[in-house]
Amino acid sequence: MRNLNEIPLTEVKGIGEKKAEIFKKLNIQTVEDLFLHIPREYEDRSFVVKIEDIALFKRNTIRGRVKRVTELRPKPKMLITKALFSDETGSIMLIWYNQPYMKNNFRDLSKEYLVSGPVSFSYGELKIENPEMEPCGKEMVSAGIIAPIYDLTKGLTQKSLRKTMHDAIKEYQEDLENFIPEELIQKYQLYDKKKAIREIHFPEKQDNAVVARETLIFEELLLFQISIYLLRENIQKRDGILFHAVPEEEIFLGNLPFALTDSQKRVLQEIKEDLYSEKRMNRLLQGDVGSGKTVIAMILLLICAKNGYQGALMAPTEILAKQHYDNFIKYLDGFSLEIRLLVGSMSAKEKNEVKKGLLDGSVDLVIGTHALIQNDVEMKACGLVVTDEQHRFGVFQRYRLSSKESKPDILVMSATPIPRTLALTMYGDLDISTIDTLPPGRQTIDTYLVSRNQIDRVFRFIEKNVALGRQAYLVCPLILDSENLENVISVETLLQEVKRAFRNYQVGFLHGKMKADEKNQIMEAFQQNKIQILLSTTVIEVGIDVPNATVMAVFNAERFGLAQLHQLRGRVGRGSHKSACILVEGSGNQDSVERLKILTMTNNGLKVAEMDLERRGPGEFLGHRQHGLMEFKVADMMKNTDFLISTRKEAEYILKEDPPLKKPKYKKMKEYVFRKYRQMLGKELLS
Ligand code: ADP
Ligand code: MG
Repeated sequence: MRNLNEIPLTEVKGIGEKKAEIFKKLNIQTVEDLFLHIPREYEDRSFVVKIEDIALFKRNTIRGRVKRVTELRPKPKMLITKALFSDETGSIMLIWYNQPYMKNNFRDLSKEYLVSGPVSFSYGELKIENPEMEPCGKEMVSAGIIAPIYDLTKGLTQKSLRKTMHDAIKEYQEDLENFIPEELIQKYQLYDKKKAIREIHFPEKQDNAVVARETLIFEELLLFQISIYLLRENIQKRDGILFHAVPEEEIFLGNLPFALTDSQKRVLQEIKEDLYSEKRMNRLLQGDVGSGKTVIAMILLLICAKNGYQGALMAPTEILAKQHYDNFIKYLDGFSLEIRLLVGSMSAKEKNEVKKGLLDGSVDLVIGTHALIQNDVEMKACGLVVTDEQHRFGVFQRYRLSSKESKPDILVMSATPIPRTLALTMYGDLDISTIDTLPPGRQTIDTYLVSRNQIDRVFRFIEKNVALGRQAYLVCPLILDSENLENVISVETLLQEVKRAFRNYQVGFLHGKMKADEKNQIMEAFQQNKIQILLSTTVIEVGIDVPNATVMAVFNAERFGLAQLHQLRGRVGRGSHKSACILVEGSGNQDSVERLKILTMTNNGLKVAEMDLERRGPGEFLGHRQHGLMEFKVADMMKNTDFLISTRKEAEYILKEDPPLKKPKYKKMKEYVFRKYRQMLGKELLS
């Protein structure tokens, strides 16, 4: 048996280095990756029709022979190849453009083909343009079957991918093993692995593809759950660092312009119990937007540094990292700490300097983005790693920083209220602390729902606020206009309207495609009220803190998840001024209206979550698939909730029954999990 996740794609027949590079763009590097690149959908081409029965303007599959081939050159650089194709009931024209080699395929007119493609009719002629075509007889991968349709990338066609898949399955099917224990395959009526892979790619019947998919989802989630359990065990059984209380904590709290809320005090206490014990901390700090998680992180990192260890704070965006950094510098002034920023847009020289300081121990605290988990970042004595807005990072990414020599405590912070089922999966490896109240004196944010023909009113409302010296965020789903999405307003379009309407104010804009430098400049200008109105895509979704901003207007709000909108709403109401969130509904769809209404009913993130979940299920709630959730190749955390629950239950049972996974029935599963996560994490975490 060969381990398919260790066989590089280049070993597959017909795949050289060049082709492998193309596959890499789809994240396919091994035979296993290839097998788990599952079809987006299928097209049933197993039903062959006679030419006289062809359905116009639809995809048809027909069987027959080429009668004659002609080439036309209507323009110097254009070649049209036409093949007259017939069966016993009629004829149709097959047409290709600029494919000079095509003609040579039809030297032997006695060959029978299956042809598939959308049929059209013009100038009295039935035709199929760019048909998919295969000689009858040998194993067919495109025309006479229920054909898989894959996500592609430049340089790959459906046909060539199908061919590769077909060949690879043939070559490697004997190496497909059941990682799911036999009894669970029975219990859940799944396929064995070999059948699952075959039927997901080339199903005999449509129904088979469904069971095949269920099998692969179950397998992926079961393996995931098992590894999460093992990770947690492994982290907890290893000693962490024993921190001691430091006098600086009191001083810091005394300097703060506010007192911690009871909720903050409680979580701080919970977390400190981890710090001051030998137990290694591995904890999630949950708290609604604006509940004051940052200051908790600051206190913990201060304790860490004053114990002589280094600490890191990792944020999902550069803007946020920069903002944290500025705050740390401000609040931790006078504690003689060396605090540094490390983000991707810094020059190599600047980065190297910080890295050097981390390695020799002269930097106490580092704040940064993904740049922190690059392989060349190493710390002399890392004691605590805090990641902010965790849902943007993958479950396994958060161990990257810690899989070095030291065994830092780990704290992840998230503002997305997560329903329990999901929390157990996303954070199944973590203990959880929750800040459940907001700081006192917070104004409730009034939330209004308006339709797009009320934009004038929205503008007047903004005008009123900026005239009072306040600032406003305007958020759109797109940067540029899109032809496909007619009713969706873009930053580009809105910017023109806003500039016209607000001539006396400074208007700025921000989007994800801008350079980090530019973004920072704009954010800084907004922070200093040099810009009053800021248009943006959702790059400002997480964490930004500008207390003087009092209006958050979201255009085409129906295109966002409620959790996202709640995050956006959390950008205002941060100071002492009355704030408002305006949701502009752009589709007129009653269902969208009803959903958005939830936000007007409550300011409480968890309540929003619960209500939305009741209506829709988790997918809609969290919005588009977010990066942190994309560790799965087949499963979709948002859609496969039932599988999440069942696999979790089974994983729990398995590890209770046989914690070391010694029984033969778990052998394959154990080997796989260990192998896979060793690849991902380095040897250290699973031993
Ligand atoms: P989040 O939990 O969303 O990350 P932040 O940490 O950004 O929230 O805090 C939001 C704002 O509330 C910040 O301006 C912060 O200084 C302030 N804040 C935090 N704790 C308190 C408190 N106990 N009393 C008053 N203001 C607070
Ligand atoms: Mg925050």
